Amino acid sequence: MSRHPVRTRRSISESWLSPVTVNVVLPIPVDRAYTYRLPDAMADAAQLGARVLVPLRNRHLTGVIVEEGPPADTLDFAVKDVVDVLDDVPACTNELLDLTKWIADYYVCTWGEALKAALPSGTTVESQRELRRTDAEPGDWANHSVGRRILDDLAERPGTTLSAMRKRLGPAVPLALVRRMAADGVLDVDTTLSDDQVTAKTATHLRFAPAFQRKDAPAELIEQLRGEKQQAVIRALAGFREAGTPEPRQADVVEHTDAAYSTIRSLVDKGMIEKVEKEVLRSPLDDLPAPDPPPNHDLLPAQQDALDAVTTSVDAHNYGTFLLHGITGSGKTEVYIRALKAVREQGRTGIILVPEIALTPQTVQRFRSHFGDRIAVLHSQMNRGERYDAWRRLRTGDAPIAVGPRSAVLAPLENLGLIVVDEEHESSYKQFDPAPRYHARDVAVMRAHRNDAVCILGSATPSLESTMNARWGKYERLALPERVPDADGEAAALPEVTVLDLTLQRKKHQLDGALADPLRDAIRTRAERGEQTILLQNRRGYAPVLECEDCGWAPECGACSVTLTLHRDGGRGRLHCHYCGHTTGTPQQCPDCGGHDISQIGTGTQRVEEELASVAPDATVLRMDRDTTSRKGGHHRILQQFRQGADVLLGTQMIAKGLDFGQVTLVGVVDADVGLLFPDFRAEERTFQLLTQVAGRAGRADLPGEVILQTRNPDHPAIRHATAHDHEGFVEDELPTRRQFNYPPFGHVATVEFRGPKEQRVERLAETWTDQLRRDAGPVTVMGPEPAFIQRVKKQHRFRTLLRVQGGSAHPLQTALRRTREAYGTPPNGYHVAIDVDAMGVL
Ligand code: ADP
Ligand code: ZN
Ligand code: ZN
Repeated sequence: MSRHPVRTRRSISESWLSPVTVNVVLPIPVDRAYTYRLPDAMADAAQLGARVLVPLRNRHLTGVIVEEGPPADTLDFAVKDVVDVLDDVPACTNELLDLTKWIADYYVCTWGEALKAALPSGTTVESQRELRRTDAEPGDWANHSVGRRILDDLAERPGTTLSAMRKRLGPAVPLALVRRMAADGVLDVDTTLSDDQVTAKTATHLRFAPAFQRKDAPAELIEQLRGEKQQAVIRALAGFREAGTPEPRQADVVEHTDAAYSTIRSLVDKGMIEKVEKEVLRSPLDDLPAPDPPPNHDLLPAQQDALDAVTTSVDAHNYGTFLLHGITGSGKTEVYIRALKAVREQGRTGIILVPEIALTPQTVQRFRSHFGDRIAVLHSQMNRGERYDAWRRLRTGDAPIAVGPRSAVLAPLENLGLIVVDEEHESSYKQFDPAPRYHARDVAVMRAHRNDAVCILGSATPSLESTMNARWGKYERLALPERVPDADGEAAALPEVTVLDLTLQRKKHQLDGALADPLRDAIRTRAERGEQTILLQNRRGYAPVLECEDCGWAPECGACSVTLTLHRDGGRGRLHCHYCGHTTGTPQQCPDCGGHDISQIGTGTQRVEEELASVAPDATVLRMDRDTTSRKGGHHRILQQFRQGADVLLGTQMIAKGLDFGQVTLVGVVDADVGLLFPDFRAEERTFQLLTQVAGRAGRADLPGEVILQTRNPDHPAIRHATAHDHEGFVEDELPTRRQFNYPPFGHVATVEFRGPKEQRVERLAETWTDQLRRDAGPVTVMGPEPAFIQRVKKQHRFRTLLRVQGGSAHPLQTALRRTREAYGTPPNGYHVAIDVDAMGVL
């Protein structure tokens, strides 16, 4: 294993007198540090930011040394010893110690909770250390009581782990001692991951047997087979092959056909198909081809101006935040790449934040083509071992560039020069559970500020907060007003948008199902011409509600106060709760009145998929929603099939992200009103952003695009302005409402959510807390408590209180919340109080 030089810090013991103590922050919701004595043997090794194992009551916890403690002899309590120092190199840099402290203060959580977000998950991983004896003479260690035993043990068991050795020799084998022996050269320490975390997983895939791999073989086989399920499997396998996946996963085939595993086994026995074991895709990027060599464009004048503004700050080591406002395809990513190059030339490091890695493979590929293996990619579907590896490459400097979602803003990079937040308006940048409930964009700006670094916020539809921060001069706005022209010098025009008023369509008898006739015709024509369609329906499942036509009864989840969604997987219907995942069968009759007329109300992606089968029977339709992408690599598979030429990509909002497909000439929105139903102050903004983003997927210079948007609210400002691609217009329409209620960007909001098993106790907890908040409120408006929008989730009752304050500072909110939390203390066991500063929604 290679070792990388890491900037070392002074040991704690050098700086003050023995006996040495340290203050340690623990990952628990108690807002204080605990003091421990550092045994002499560990004093050399312990540094600020290092993880330590310490006793708390009757358990051992991993904490982080955040500061030097008071001299032990001044303490009036019996101070306990640190059990072990876990890090050779402090896990947490000084900068991250300070930044996490700021996060804890701003988002009103504990420092321990904030630190936990900055450290690799799975704190047991790092204690997997392999030890080996070297050829060096034992020297004084032969006389050292513990050292002697360690050397003897290693002679018998080379390559043993520290934890295994502790089981044999007892816990009195401190890492610090091992490290001193390593420094003397008598043994080698290798930090590795334990095997069970990194072994490859395999999955069963299916393919046609060699004798039947001809294109016309499936038809022959189907003729030979009598079982419908068996025929379906053959048909599905042929379909997957046509879509570019000749060896699909068995699980996918089963899901597609509803066939039993025994059906597949009998086809294998007949020698028609065969099974292959394949390694499970580790990362969505692993099987992407090596990226193309980077193109070297001359920048367009607008790009050059933007880059010049950024590099002026970079060269001067000045802080600056830039709002790069440009529609999809206007060349923003190109500007990020050049800015990162400028930063790397100074030997500084960079972070690129994207909303979701699995949905933005093209962006990641472009960075890889320029920066190669200097990049560590972080993503939500990594396992613990992969996550730890990536974290370590960043911490040691082996990878000076981090690309990832929200949590990558806390990447352990030193000497930071640039943070890019792509699609800065995305709400996935805000963490909800658990604490710290931070907004990665705002942390990015703060982190850049503290490092004299540059922050670039990019978007086609900047948030109202960033738009106003630019107007108020806190950020510098840089505009890329046009799409990049193609090789012939032609820029793609923005697509033509047609609004279909569904009420009118129904009157004209042009609406039978979810898709009105003009949209049906457009999809059919595209499929015939070999052009592609993207179809947005931001609701998954088949039908959102079932209802008894006689009495109005609708099935609800037993654990949550929501109605159940009907899902149809391969013909059978099942009811799903979208909040807790619980599923049950569909009722044959109404349990209240015994009626048999139970109707399916509303439209989910599965229902649209079914309708498409009759609209364009020959078209290949890919469905992308949480149900088809929950498995690792799911997004990737679907996107690849679309790139290989499927006709229609149908899905929820996940299809609106960073896709860039040249053959898409039609974007359809099945129901533009879905997001407007939520009684939340950001509902309009989200709808505007989603519609604008998805509309931007259509067309290029030589293949003009069209957008067809179905709505019952054609005059709603969010829909009107999205139709006109008019961000400015939307902002002007929306600002007065925000100003009137002191909502962001004119004020700050926070929510406090109270959760627990007994409704009355939750309500009482909420009332006591809120009364105290009112006493501490100062200039803050406190509203509530009220039952939350969804009153019960997973058998937990929920109440919430809303706080609002006018002006640019969240400080009064934070003060009130902190005081109340201190006054109230910890809620009773099983009850939770979740504080969310700058909450994205107030439901
Ligand atoms: P955005 O990030 O705003 O969507 P991109 O940076 O991805 O825009 O640019 C869109 C396309 O135009 C990409 O294929 C990119 O390689 C290309 N491109 C960007 N800048 C230039 C340029 N100056 N000259 C030629 N092609 C460019
Ligand atoms: Zn009924
Ligand atoms: Zn539920």
